[in-house]
Amino acid sequence: MSADSAPRTQPGPTIISRSEHPISRKDLDKDTLRVLYRLKDSGFEAYLVGGAVRDLLMDRNPKDFDVATDARPRELRRLFKNSREVGKRFRLVHVFFGPKNVEVATLRSEVEAPDAANGDLYVDEDNEWGNLESDAFRRDFTINALYYDIRDFAVIDYVGGVADIHAGLVRAIGDPRVRFQEDPVRMLRAVKFAARFGYTIEAKTAAAITELHGDILKANRHRVTEEFFRILTQANRANGLRLLAQFGLLEDLYPDWAKAIGQTGLDQVIEFLERVDAEAEQDRWYSIELIATGLFVPLLDTIDPAKDQFNRVAARVTQEVRQLGVRMDLPKRLINTSVELLRGQLYLLFFAHKENRVSRFVESPWFDATWRLHLLAFGGIEELAPLRTTWLAYRKRISRPIGGSVPSPDRRDIFSFRGRTGGGRHADRGGNGDDDGEWAEPELVDTGEE
Ligand code: ATP
Ligand code: MG
Repeated sequence: MSADSAPRTQPGPTIISRSEHPISRKDLDKDTLRVLYRLKDSGFEAYLVGGAVRDLLMDRNPKDFDVATDARPRELRRLFKNSREVGKRFRLVHVFFGPKNVEVATLRSEVEAPDAANGDLYVDEDNEWGNLESDAFRRDFTINALYYDIRDFAVIDYVGGVADIHAGLVRAIGDPRVRFQEDPVRMLRAVKFAARFGYTIEAKTAAAITELHGDILKANRHRVTEEFFRILTQANRANGLRLLAQFGLLEDLYPDWAKAIGQTGLDQVIEFLERVDAEAEQDRWYSIELIATGLFVPLLDTIDPAKDQFNRVAARVTQEVRQLGVRMDLPKRLINTSVELLRGQLYLLFFAHKENRVSRFVESPWFDATWRLHLLAFGGIEELAPLRTTWLAYRKRISRPIGGSVPSPDRRDIFSFRGRTGGGRHADRGGNGDDDGEWAEPELVDTGEE
């Protein structure tokens, strides 16, 4: 299909001129601005697009800036010496500015599913070039399909995205049933955006998720894990998990885990995430590893330090977390950290009366994160107050302030495989390998606050 036979003939876009919207050039990252101008001066169309336009219209700080243009990858490579083409299934060009890069994508059109005749709407390649209109309609949600035009600083809206921002709605573009079958990860993305912004998922879009949630198992597991952890590490994560559970997505994705912790366990995890949310509001942040460990906290529920034996319980919990973690496709290092932090919980419970153990454990590099996890998971349990007093007294003998949190929201891109697959959107489907990707060492950074 060529650009001029774009699939839809809609009335035409709404143009919101510079005087009618708040986006100013000084809100833009300066390297992105440079790329936009370079494209424009070379005679190409150039737009800021996607999350950045959405966030700026909401008066939020964008975390990255994506550029769309009618220049083709080869032209982009010629125009920007400091650039590299990445991705096969979703080809785009990275323009480098030191360690940072600006992602520049050529305008595309919706791709027809190769197997549509057999009812399979899954699309595994997305490199059909197109124009601005077709590019807007192939995007996932209306709020993500807005363009800021560097020629006149207007915002261009083909899909009613500006109205949906004002109404607080996450609405799929086109027929949500089709869009979710093409790419089931979009269902997780709907939940992600709804939770993050406190938006409502528009009725037809929500109905399609209710109907098609089981299709999430057809999606690439790396992408699923990435979106799941985006939900756990953004604002309003408790609500995110609640929505995933309500749609049935959580049980589809992690049936063994859901069964192991049960409904009470799920409520506990949600409460844990509510505390993490509250801490984030106070500008205190935790590592992805620590937050992930919260998923397994309910496994400690049945433990009774008066009757049980540390070694036996620790071995049981270790085995359970390893098994569940592997089935959940969690990276190995994340599983290992969870095991350490949960064993730490047991240590706090079983050994508060053993002076030599207490004085040794407070010196351990794991202690501070263990302590933070304890406060988040069990800090509300009154009976444990005396135990806490003991541990804290010993910990305070060490002059170093209690760490265990991280200095800013943990946005390490530890689940993304963009480098390998490009764009991350349509990596091999169903990839279920045990490759744990490019994991950094756990960073249970001691920020020395308090
Ligand atoms: P975030 O703030 O989380 O980065 P974002 O909207 O920028 O949100 P990205 O994953 O960075 O999300 O994707 C950039 C843009 O690409 C989106 O805004 C959307 O227009 C488009 N996009 C991303 N994933 C999909 C998808 N699965 N299907 C259709 N369009 C998508
Ligand atoms: Mg983005």
